[in-house]
Amino acid sequence: MFEGKNREIMQRDLEVIWHPCTQMKDHETLPIIPIASAKGVYLYDFEGNRYLDAISSWWVNLFGHSNPTINAALISQVEQLEHVLLAGFTHAPAVELAHQLVALTPKGLEKVFYADNGSSAVEVALKMSYHYHYNQGKKKSLFLSLSNSYHGETIGALSVGDVGLYKETYAPLLIANEQVPVPKDQTPKAAHDALELLETRLKEKGDKIAALILEPLIQGAGGMHMYHSDYLKGARELTSKYDVHLIADEIMTGFGRTGMMFGCNHAKISPDFMTLSKGLTGGYLPLSVVMTTNTIYNAFYCDYHEYKAFLHSHSYTGNPLACSVALATLGIFESQNIIETNQSKQQHLSKLLQKFKSLPNVKTVRQQGMVAAVELTGYTPKERVGLQIYRYGLTHGVLLRPLGNVIYFMPPYIITESQMGEMIQVAYDAIKAV
Ligand SMILES: *Cc1c(COP(=O)(O)O)cnc(C)c1O
Repeated sequence: MFEGKNREIMQRDLEVIWHPCTQMKDHETLPIIPIASAKGVYLYDFEGNRYLDAISSWWVNLFGHSNPTINAALISQVEQLEHVLLAGFTHAPAVELAHQLVALTPKGLEKVFYADNGSSAVEVALKMSYHYHYNQGKKKSLFLSLSNSYHGETIGALSVGDVGLYKETYAPLLIANEQVPVPKDQTPKAAHDALELLETRLKEKGDKIAALILEPLIQGAGGMHMYHSDYLKGARELTSKYDVHLIADEIMTGFGRTGMMFGCNHAKISPDFMTLSKGLTGGYLPLSVVMTTNTIYNAFYCDYHEYKAFLHSHSYTGNPLACSVALATLGIFESQNIIETNQSKQQHLSKLLQKFKSLPNVKTVRQQGMVAAVELTGYTPKERVGLQIYRYGLTHGVLLRPLGNVIYFMPPYIITESQMGEMIQVAYDAIKAV
């Protein structure tokens, strides 16, 4: 890994690049892997080593790297129109994509606001929710979220998250937020216990709370913590009852990861806002959307001088290249009936996961749709067991990127059963080796 062209690029990288979410000193001993090309589930470095991308390159890739269908859509779009501003102008890919998203998402979500990454979509949803209440003459400037949640790392998104590692340092900068406990496991009982606490908080402070934001069914960066859909159903009922918006952050859970198209589908609910990004473009280009209702849209609709408009924008909002690959991605869902064909992959994954249960350092094994996690026990944070597993994976051809003690699998949907076997075997050996 550390040889030849790989080493040369890594050294030039370290002279100038400050990497995301990284203690740069780790790279005194830990190699940075320069990727030369990628195809399907595999990434290839400059020395011909390959790595099975078990985490879909940070949860974005759905149909493999260098997917021929998506490539073709991108090439054709770039010949036509690369970018145009979306204020006062529009273009066919943005229009078509918005219509398809309205048709695909739960009933009631009728308007699409474009942004260009997940965190900015969360910012938009928070601002819109606050502003909606403001336009109604209500001062609601507090946000509620679940313990252990993650919604991105810009100031607003960070505020409503609850991962201490990312958040604590910035505490004085954050907007007003509170957390209620997330259901502690996947049982209906845990969901109902947590709903009682939610109702208590809403009763007490509902008049100050603009919105409850949550990650449906799976808390991603919070270690792939999973909970029952009854919680979603109850949270929808309670937020409606107390005049609080429900923001479903489906940035990770959207587009089939939970086994249905959206996490909300499991509870048959429709939120007031849904944020989507990551898989939206099949892992090709940055793009995000905030879906919302006509009720919310209409509260901003008036003569200009009334100052009710939502004056928020990003330069690359609704970029045509990104919209065209998103359309190609949705096309694959439909033409290949992905949600249904993924069912057997989930079952296969479930079978493969069984063998982790007998390992003495494994605490729990959990799965929701196309996402699975193995949580280890018996390690102190100082041991950095996740980092050890990451290293083991890389030297054995699999990109695993544990979250603390949690090793998880979120592969692209094109993964074959034998590739799944390869991924699981390397993780299994890694867990035995640490
Ligand atoms: C990744 C993620 C975000 C942030 O998206 P970025 O594009 O990384 O800013 C927000 N919410 C959830 C649930 C995510 O998984």
